[in-house]
Amino acid sequence: LESKLPDVGVSIFSQMTLLAQQTGAINLAQGFPDYDPPLALREALARHALARGSHQYAPMPGLPRLRQAIAAQVGRLQPEAPAPDPDTEITLTAGATEALYSVLAAVVRPGDEVIILEPAYDLYGPTVRLQGGVPRYVRLPTTDFRPDWDAVRAAVTERTRLIMVNSPHNPSGAVFGAEDWDALASLVEDTGLLVLSDEVYEHLVFDGVAPLSARQHPALRARSFVVSSFGKTYHATGWKVGYCLAPPALTAELRRVHQFVTFAVSTPTQHALADVLEADPGDAHARSLASFYQAKRDEFAGLLAGGGWQLRPVPGGYFQLASYEQFSTKGDLAFAEELARSWGVAVVPVSAFYHDGFDAGLVRFCFAKESATLKAAAQRLNRPA
Ligand code: PMP
Ligand code: GLN
Repeated sequence: LESKLPDVGVSIFSQMTLLAQQTGAINLAQGFPDYDPPLALREALARHALARGSHQYAPMPGLPRLRQAIAAQVGRLQPEAPAPDPDTEITLTAGATEALYSVLAAVVRPGDEVIILEPAYDLYGPTVRLQGGVPRYVRLPTTDFRPDWDAVRAAVTERTRLIMVNSPHNPSGAVFGAEDWDALASLVEDTGLLVLSDEVYEHLVFDGVAPLSARQHPALRARSFVVSSFGKTYHATGWKVGYCLAPPALTAELRRVHQFVTFAVSTPTQHALADVLEADPGDAHARSLASFYQAKRDEFAGLLAGGGWQLRPVPGGYFQLASYEQFSTKGDLAFAEELARSWGVAVVPVSAFYHDGFDAGLVRFCFAKESATLKAAAQRLNRPA
């Protein structure tokens, strides 16, 4: 069989997790917490697992009560924008991954160009290509990973269909300011361009900065698919529940595809999430995440101080970038392998986020870990090989 993605191997996250398992390295590579979802959420899932009547197909767009709870929360947390309509503007998906896939499958036609800002989450480019689309990669400056909007504008052609953005950004943690959203809005205004805004780390914005969504900008709200993930928000990456917010006409197109990709998301997990959202009308959980993860960021940086690591600033998300060139000149993939095998810590080489393997001299640590894990990792990282 001739491969549709001949240049694509096993994802770097799977590779590095396997390497960590084989070598006994502490896994700071793949992005997932080593703690569990809140007890109330696990209890809710247990309740629905034991109950009769929540084990058959959910409605295709998601359980109405979960869509209502999401609409209410988004309305409260983003008061500048009208709350999304639960019936016509919210679709539950099998993680953010399925939302991204289904949106791209719904809107990208063969030959359409999609602008992707690199470093980019690994599925963006291959998923565009699977639709016959053509990724147009624009490199983010490796200083602060905030877009050079003139460079983005220069990449737009008459074939451009969609611009993908991701704030807070994986892997850099960069967060769009109001001026970035304004620049994106002026770029797409009065054009047919659509926006796919990957906001899975939406609540993880640090240092007192208010999170901003594409939805808060009227010109963007009208043409954006906004994707989020309960995996990130509730420390439940294994549940694979996410959602997409989009205006009714865009949602209708997304649902045409979603119904054939998964049809619907698992029913008991949706009930459990609805329970915890309904029980938290002040959004205490979502609002607690910034300080929770900021403390982890600061703890990890503090533990690495004095070990010779040069850490990049982390305005958001749950990843720390660090330069490695003072330790190795063999490239980031070779260094990541050496780090796992000889130092005992697994990381992700940032070249995996570039379609051409560009090596920015950086590796990525995930700090969504218990204090004991961060301490054990730091002990290894502070001991030169
Ligand atoms: N987008 C980004 C930027 C991510 O970091 C991730 C998770 N690592 C996803 C999408 C996928 O989210 P999910 O696990 O909900 O499918
Ligand atoms: N999003 C996670 C990361 O960036 C990985 C998810 C996955 O393994 N597919 O590490």
